[in-house]
Amino acid sequence: MPIVAATKESISRAAEALARGEIVAFPTETVYGLGANALDASAVAEVFAAKARPRFNPLIVPVLGLEEAESYAAVNETTRKLIRAFWPGPLSLVLPRKPGCMIADLVSAGLDTIALRAPNHPVARALLEAAKLPIAAPSANRSGRISPTTAAHVEAELGNLPAMILDGGPCALGLESTVLGIDGSDVTLLRLGTLPREDIEKVLGCKLTKPKAG
Ligand code: AMP
Ligand code: MG
Repeated sequence: MPIVAATKESISRAAEALARGEIVAFPTETVYGLGANALDASAVAEVFAAKARPRFNPLIVPVLGLEEAESYAAVNETTRKLIRAFWPGPLSLVLPRKPGCMIADLVSAGLDTIALRAPNHPVARALLEAAKLPIAAPSANRSGRISPTTAAHVEAELGNLPAMILDGGPCALGLESTVLGIDGSDVTLLRLGTLPREDIEKVLGCKLTKPKAG
């Protein structure tokens, strides 16, 4: 049984498993994530394989906050404003990858952008702190299925494919993050999730652009 109660000790074992290239499921305030060392392309490939996720669909990288985001991506004033308003919280930002960013290309599905989010959940944050590595973590479900909001739900989806499933109880929000693409001062709504569009528009002081067709 890969499910273990999230404690300081089990979180530290999960961090060691990630460093060894294993994949680990953990709770966030939105849904459970399936994490891998984002620097290790073969660990990231295991996440895609476990989820049967097409390799053209990039992953989100959870971070502790602005400072870590700036080490992987170009952060402009628009991004900073959104981060100040909504992090930690259910908002993912697709930003230009910084030149020399060491995160595996597979995480970004070969794009020159990277999706970052700071989760507001003590177990997710403790795991990021313990791992001292960037972690790539999409939702812990098989591709095309509903995102899991309990550890048992993750196990029903993925069995013992994850080395560990950290059980932090049910997710408070239970719905994915809202995803925005940022290109200069242009902000595009890529996926509507927990964070309402109106809240974002209030902070930006303008309407969000919809993705271009095709
Ligand atoms: P999941 O982590 O499974 O909730 O899915 C991540 C979501 O973020 C998907 O809708 C991806 O298409 C989107 N996403 C992640 N990275 C990027 C990126 N670089 N460009 C555009 N969308 C992205
Ligand atoms: Mg998902």
